[in-house]
Amino acid sequence: MTTHDRIPDAVSLAGVERIHGKGSTAVTALREITVAIPRGSFTAVMGPSGSGKSTFLQCAAGLDSPTAGTVRLGETMLTGLNETQLTELRRERVGFVFQAFNLMPSLTVLENITLPLRLARRRPDGAWVEEIVRRVGLTGRTGHRPAELSGGQQQRVAIARALVTRPEVVFADEPTGALDTVTAKEVLALLRDTVDSMGQTVVMVTHDPVAASYADEVLFLADGRITDTLTGAGADRIADRMTHLGAWA
Ligand code: ADP
Ligand code: MG
Repeated sequence: MTTHDRIPDAVSLAGVERIHGKGSTAVTALREITVAIPRGSFTAVMGPSGSGKSTFLQCAAGLDSPTAGTVRLGETMLTGLNETQLTELRRERVGFVFQAFNLMPSLTVLENITLPLRLARRRPDGAWVEEIVRRVGLTGRTGHRPAELSGGQQQRVAIARALVTRPEVVFADEPTGALDTVTAKEVLALLRDTVDSMGQTVVMVTHDPVAASYADEVLFLADGRITDTLTGAGADRIADRMTHLGAWA
């Protein structure tokens, strides 16, 4: 295979820097970030509070723009797209899962899941929606309102909503941060399953080594830089690496 016909990475960042604010109050949240995330992989981004994890995710997902460097989604260079193009890209090509679920309380489970399709004026593919609902374990719950569901079920609605557009990448920021340990494991297993059985690409921010151990690769952020990576590591090794980075000091 020549480099020309090689499959592009799902997301790639090159020389990314993000400075929040200006002058004496400026904060450098990301520096010299160069990384490529392969298609069909599960990547965890770890680091202590304030290390730049959320900024990394937002820049990678086109929710925020770097002050320097470039971000690509597949073959699309995000840098230089206008706000309308970025909005469309976020709606059509990426999915989001947040710690706080962010469901619409007045809509049913099914309406929440299919909302991104309606926003994109796309007709829901009934068989696909049904398959997603089944995969996330919400069959029989589609007529409920979010308030009638447990936290874990609400997060599974959010994951279904993120998957429904068949996005190139699902970005998750601390998706288990508001869940108990047992429920968190179910949600992590579900994200893992979307990678293994659907070929989904997932990028997940977490500060929990157990959560990160579900990923194929862990990127460690400290003070805005990627200082280390681990592949196929268990929770103990990930926790140990965090300690040695001095990240929990
Ligand atoms: P993390 O998610 O790892 O906790 P963040 O990406 O949220 O880290 O933040 C990285 C750094 O950038 C922190 O010092 C934070 O205070 C700063 N920061 C993040 N967002 C903003 C913002 N909108 N304005 C100013 N500073 C910000
Ligand atoms: Mg954060």
